[in-house]
Amino acid sequence: MTKQRRAILEVLRSTDRHPDAYWIYETVRQKIPNISLGTIYRTLKVLCDAGLARELNYGDQLSRYDGNVSHHGHVTCLRCGRIADVRIPPDGDFTQVAEQDSGFQIKAFRVEFEGLCPECRSAEPDQPLNSGGGR
Ligand code: ZN
Ligand code: MN
Repeated sequence: MTKQRRAILEVLRSTDRHPDAYWIYETVRQKIPNISLGTIYRTLKVLCDAGLARELNYGDQLSRYDGNVSHHGHVTCLRCGRIADVRIPPDGDFTQVAEQDSGFQIKAFRVEFEGLCPECRSAEPDQPLNSGGGR
């Protein structure tokens, strides 16, 4: 594993904020000042392909990255975009229903919630949802 790869993986594993590539770039640059954004993107792809990181794709928004590759779900704040981890209960029912409905053999599944994070809830408790956050 190259020095760059290790530095990027360290940054990813040191945070639970599910950063985008640009945040990773700014952070890794404090250690490796001459690294390029292109190298960050290429390295992230290598790490994801190797199963050492996960890419979280949210439609037309920038991909976010997760250094925690254990089985877990995410909840995204509709207002500020923050992504938090959530545990996923045992999958028996989900998988069985999906297999019955589709005829597929299910190999994996993802759980994505959306909502308001604690900070956004307390900042604007009475505002209606959906001023800009969604897909
Ligand atoms: Zn929020
Ligand atoms: Mn996560």
